[in-house]
Amino acid sequence: MNLYMVLGVAREASDDEIKRAYKRLARRFHPNVNPGDADAARVYREVVEAFETLSHPERRRAYDSGAFSEVHVTASVAFEGFDFTQRADGSQASTFGDLFGEVMHARVRRQEPERGADLHERLALSFEQAMRGATVGIRLTRLEPCGPCAGRGAVAGPEVRCYACDGAGHVRGTRGHMVFARACSACGGGGTLRVHVCQACGGEGVGVRADIVPVDIPPGVRDATELTVPGQGHAGRRGGGPGDLRLAIHVESHRFFRRDGDDVVIDVPLAVHEAALGTRVPIPSPDGPVVFRVPPGTQSGQRFRVRERGIRFRHGQRGDLVVDVRIVLPSVIDERSKELLREFGTLQTDNVRAHFGELTLENGPRP
Ligand SMILES: [Zn+2]
Ligand SMILES: [Zn+2]
Repeated sequence: MNLYMVLGVAREASDDEIKRAYKRLARRFHPNVNPGDADAARVYREVVEAFETLSHPERRRAYDSGAFSEVHVTASVAFEGFDFTQRADGSQASTFGDLFGEVMHARVRRQEPERGADLHERLALSFEQAMRGATVGIRLTRLEPCGPCAGRGAVAGPEVRCYACDGAGHVRGTRGHMVFARACSACGGGGTLRVHVCQACGGEGVGVRADIVPVDIPPGVRDATELTVPGQGHAGRRGGGPGDLRLAIHVESHRFFRRDGDDVVIDVPLAVHEAALGTRVPIPSPDGPVVFRVPPGTQSGQRFRVRERGIRFRHGQRGDLVVDVRIVLPSVIDERSKELLREFGTLQTDNVRAHFGELTLENGPRP
């Protein structure tokens, strides 16, 4: 076991660096932060033990001089005041070698890549952005791959004795009363390692960063839906793939337009004479002003379609612009207008309430 590797620091690390590394790792693997996690508890004890030796000048000198390459010699010095005779499962550890074999096995297992978690964010879009699509910069605070180790959690360095087998190339295991040796999985039996735990990330391969990330919003996204952006979630640990970014979409309302499926609907007010006589009026459309041809005799509530002026989709098809006509009566205040309207009334031969049939007041309800 290499105590420097346990703390992820260089052999020439200062007392300060050792203390910092210890604090960081102790916080991560502390039993209070990882309740019920036996692996974390073991790693924690290992970190404490490495710190106890390396933070003590005499013990560190002795350790550096190689005076105790044997585990049981280290133990007599390093474990002063620590009770390591009890295993996590309560049974007696027969030797420190057994104990460490177990601890190190736990470390090796912890180093498997792990996919990053999905990141959930809200995104408000204007009506136009949702309709046409847009590239939006979104502020994200997320785990990103560690710079110094490029997310691998480990960096290349000088060749050192394997921490798992202490250079032997094999580790001892016990099954019942049988004691056997198996090839060390950390170094593949070679007994040496050239890979060190990255100091910047403590081997996790990730760090928290706030960033503005450009995200492509496809045209036609709907309000109250979720948009998944693959690979833009949290970075994976120890080289694992990233999670996805999941955006809860809110589309703001528009002062002219509203959405109906793939169509864009607009209310167009018309004056009485425009509706009756027909005309051409400029109206807003998603692509800018267009001319709307009002046919003579247009009724209030009538609906017209301007083809392919609605929501655009990635495959090129578009919805329509739907025009809902609303007839607005003029405010008749002056005598001249009233006179003209009365005269207009005498010319009107249409009975606009003909569908009621013949009504007489005698048939109605008594007041
Ligand atoms: Zn090994
Ligand atoms: Zn790193």
